[in-house]
Parts: sequence; structure tokens; C-alpha cells
Amino acid sequence: MDSMIQSATNDTELLAEALDRLKREFASLPGYTPEVPGEGRMAAVLAEAALRLGDNFPYFHPLYAGQMLKPPHPVARTAYALAMNLNPNNHALDGGRASSHMEVEAVREIAAMFGWSEFLGHLTSGGTFANLEALWVAGQMAPGKKIVASEQAHYTHSRISAVLRLPFASVATGDCGRMDLAALESALAAGDVGTVVATLGTTALGAVDPLDGILQLRAKYGFRLHVDAAYGGYFRLASNLQADAQRAFDRIGEADSIVVDPHKHGLQPYGCGCILFRDPSMGRWYKHDSPYTYFTSNQLHLGEISLECSRAGASAVALWATQRLLPLVRGGEFAQGLERSREAALCLHSIVASDPHFVAGPPPELDIVTWAVRAPAVAESSNSAQQVFDRAAERGLHLALAHLPARFFAGAHWPNPQHDSSVTCLRSVLMKPEHLTWIDEIAQRLRDTL
Ligand SMILES: *Cc1c(COP(=O)(O)O)cnc(C)c1O
Repeated sequence: MDSMIQSATNDTELLAEALDRLKREFASLPGYTPEVPGEGRMAAVLAEAALRLGDNFPYFHPLYAGQMLKPPHPVARTAYALAMNLNPNNHALDGGRASSHMEVEAVREIAAMFGWSEFLGHLTSGGTFANLEALWVAGQMAPGKKIVASEQAHYTHSRISAVLRLPFASVATGDCGRMDLAALESALAAGDVGTVVATLGTTALGAVDPLDGILQLRAKYGFRLHVDAAYGGYFRLASNLQADAQRAFDRIGEADSIVVDPHKHGLQPYGCGCILFRDPSMGRWYKHDSPYTYFTSNQLHLGEISLECSRAGASAVALWATQRLLPLVRGGEFAQGLERSREAALCLHSIVASDPHFVAGPPPELDIVTWAVRAPAVAESSNSAQQVFDRAAERGLHLALAHLPARFFAGAHWPNPQHDSSVTCLRSVLMKPEHLTWIDEIAQRLRDTL
């Protein structure tokens, strides 16, 4: 709890200083008294809100090692709060001039991480909307053609395809949760696939689809390639990936479009995804004309290249500030944080792999660990996973549960699991750099559940 209270105090001081500086920018305006309805009752309402917020898992703490949740960097929340004093709207330059320019700069830095200098891109409300834009453009390029993604791809791809009225099919994965290239090739042979979605960092396992093999198939069959790196994209900067994942990340720049979520591993508050297109001329699909939009200059307004209209300028300010503090470079502090997360995952994986009570899932390719409870049958293992999950929570350790194909746990030696028979297993996303120094404590509390 200490760390949370400590950084909150710093946030307040930092914010006060920055706010002073911002006020000076508008010092020439005549003074006025803002009208704040309910002003005198705010403290009481906020106290009530704080009480309500206590009904949460402690996402900020290293003992929260469950889902993809972590607090934004203090500079991000401070910059966001600072921008809130203006509440800019990045739809148009008129609504958020400075924050639009900051968005362009921040997005350019993300694109540069993938080796792109000429591209089209912008922030979105999140990964789902960013993927929607990618698949919408894909559908414009190849109307009526199929979208395919692996069985372990994010569930929203099939839903987005339905919204766009594009046919969707999923492609089998191998036992490590990566797209199976032979299965992809047989889907391609049918001749009706317009777009392949490769996931670099699946949500459940952090598995990295074999992008180099997929690119070979693109050379043979020709299709649009979208990379969903909402979770994994920033691992482009990590220097401790194993060879398969490294080969995939090395070629990410050959995709036609890429999605990455600054609000997952980019230290941002929710409401920050990013879509990038390699070909800047994709902007033509966004062209629109609206009587109530207010594009008053002939400079590019981000609303002209985005499906969403109003977007939080504060998100762009927070992202810009974070990347200013922690540039997206290999070997930098930000990259080192990712490397520590991955190291933590490797530690936990080896701990569960050597514990006879557990069966480790596939070795982590990023920073997500999965393991099942050893039992003679799948159903028993699933029940025990639920018990371990509950008992861990009672001991202050917060894990996640996942339903994964039983075949991912080869070490369990379950008799011939069907391709799709699933087991409930434990899952831990070790996305906070502090997780590395807490691994022993996490392991101890996990053993205490047995
Ligand atoms: C989280 C995630 C998404 C969805 O992104 P949101 O920001 O939650 O909308 C899509 N794809 C992958 C691989 C993800 O991990």
C-alpha cells in the first residue's frame, strides 16, 4: 500500500508545479470564477468513491499477478490530469491543437519502433477499436474476402468481422499456442482469404505467431497481413526473447498494419490503443465530409484519418510525456522493464515446472505463465485450479484462471486429449517490473495453497 500512497503524494506535487506553469500560459485572460455545482459536497462524495474503490484487487501491487493490469506510470497520470484542465479533443486541431501535435509525435515514435518512418497512424480508445480500423481497411481492400486468425487470437477478431460483415475463420494452433502454418496454408489454398491476422503475443499465453513463416506464405499466396500486437508489440524492444519470438518481432515491419496498446504494456491509463498502416495512402478510405465538423485549417486533422470522432487529447499528452521520459529504445529504461517482466515469467515457469504438484504450460514467449494442477484427469485438474486460485487470493496472491486446450499441458500425460478439450489452468501475467524481485514471495504463497 505504501508505494501507492507514496507515489500519489508525488503525483500531487508534480501536478501542482506543472499546473502552475500551464496557468501562466493563459495568464493574459481576465480573471473569472468558475461555477462548480455541488462544490461544497465534493469531498464527501470523493470519500465515498474511495471507499467504493476499495472493492478491487490491488492491481498496483506485485502480489497482484493475475490479468493484464497495472497502474500507469506516474508521469502518464500526472500529464493526463494536467491536460484535464483543458480537456482537449483530438478530433480536430480546433479541439486540441497541442495535444494533436503531441499525438502525431508519439505515434511517430511508436511507428519508428517497428522501423516505419512513412506510415499512417493514430491513437484509438483501445486495441479492439484499433483492430476494427485495421480490419475495416482490409475489408475495403478485399471486399467479401475472408479474415483468418488463430484459435488463440483475441476473441474480438471474429466479432469485429461480423460487425464488418466479413467472413471469418479460425486457424488451428500447435501445442504452444502459435498459429499452425500447415493449417494456415490449407485455409489459403481455398483461395478466399483476403487477410491474415498474426498475433504477436496472444492474450492468454503471450504466444507469438510464426511471422516469418506467415510472410513466406504471403509471398506464395498473396494476402493482406495484419499484426495484432496489442499486448506484445513493445517486446520489439526487448533483448531477451528466445529465437522463434525474436524472428517474428524482427519482421513485424513487413506487415500491412499493426495494432499496439499503450494501455497494456505502454504504461498508460485505459483509453489508449494505436493503429498503424504501412501505406500512408490508406488515408483515402477515411475521407468524409460532415457539416458539423470544424476543420478550419488545411493541416491534417486526426479526425480525418480516424473512425472515431471525439478522442481524449489527454491520452495523447500522457503518452507523449511517458515516451519523452522513457524513450522507446532498445537498452533504455522502458525496454529494461519489459526484460525484467520476461525474466520474472521465466523464473515462475521454472518454479512451477519443477514442482510435482503442477504441470507447466508452454514456456513463456513473453511475460505470461500458465500452469495446470497435476491430476489424473482433466476435470479434476480444473477443479483443483479453481481451489488454488481461491486459496491464493485468501493469502493475498492474486492469480488468473484460463481455459486452454488440454493438449497445451503435455507433461500432464492426460490420455489423448481431443484437439479442443479444455482444462482450467492458472495464469499469471507478470507485467510489472517489480514482479522479478517478488517471485520468491509469489512462489511461497503459491506453495502455501497446496
Ligand atoms: C487486449 C487485446 C486486444 C483488445 O484490446 P483492448 O484494448 O482490450 O480493446 C486485442 N488483441 C490482443 C492480442 C490483446 O491482448
